[in-house]
Amino acid sequence: MKALIVYAHPEPRSLNGALKDIAVTTLEGAGHEVRVSDLYAMGWKAAVDAADYGAHATDPLQVVPSSGAAFDAGALTPDVAAEQEKLLWADTVIFQFPLWWYAMPAILKGWVDRVFTYNFAYGVGVHDATRYGERYGEGTLRGRRAVLSVTVGGPESHYSDRGINGPIEDLLFPIHHGILYYPGLEVLPPFVLHGTDRLAGGAFEDAAKAWRERLLALETTEPIAFRRQNFGDYEIPSLRLKEGLEAPGRTGFGLHVRA
Ligand code: FAD
Repeated sequence: MKALIVYAHPEPRSLNGALKDIAVTTLEGAGHEVRVSDLYAMGWKAAVDAADYGAHATDPLQVVPSSGAAFDAGALTPDVAAEQEKLLWADTVIFQFPLWWYAMPAILKGWVDRVFTYNFAYGVGVHDATRYGERYGEGTLRGRRAVLSVTVGGPESHYSDRGINGPIEDLLFPIHHGILYYPGLEVLPPFVLHGTDRLAGGAFEDAAKAWRERLLALETTEPIAFRRQNFGDYEIPSLRLKEGLEAPGRTGFGLHVRA
């Protein structure tokens, strides 16, 4: 396995730092190759701007065509080009981060905004009256796998089916489906630790053991069964799910997971 760990936490001695270290030692100990993008340590620039695209930046700046032109010309900034190269090198991408305001930390979102450029992560494939490109099951990163390792402050019940915060699988859907599955990554079920602000009484040791077990099973874990865009489940050209394909009672985000 060639694993890229994209890690977002400002404190190396944090719980997230410990989980990242466990991933490195566990995977390397099992004979896998590991590379780490430690975004805070790298001083990752999170905000997109015209300087990202040099002479390919339109005036006024339009990010979609500017990023696509810079990508096509091999003229993206070295930090972004290096991350795209790591993604193409990897067969498995692990994201390690704390849930901040129901989402990933801004530095990690900024990594996505700048690295997942037009013509690399979106805008791929034929776009015409009947096809809307290669995405959701196809795309540049097809054949690779991704998994989120997320620490969450609140207890599990708050994120359960009737929990006040909403189900964790719904909160993670924009990342799982909209960011990772979109450019073709197969998404494994997340590793989620709840109640992490008050870890006591052996909870860390239990979490570390569970994370090691998940890491050693990554190659054989079944991905979430998201529906593929171009393989018959959706009406053309509306890309609405065809009537009758959903499992009974399944609505909302859950419609896009095969029964
Ligand atoms: P740390 O603070 O580093 O550690 C947490 C616990 O683990 C501590 O008890 C620590 O002693 C222990 N620990 C750490 N490392 C080790 C180790 N090596 N060995 C043994 N024990 C260890 N929560 C939500 O539920 N929903 C939200 O929307 C949300 N939004 C947030 C927004 C912001 C801006 C912030 C700052 C927090 C938010 N939180 C939210 C809480 C957040 O998810 C948790 O604080 C975070 O997940 C904890 O991870 P950490 O790595 O920062 O933990």
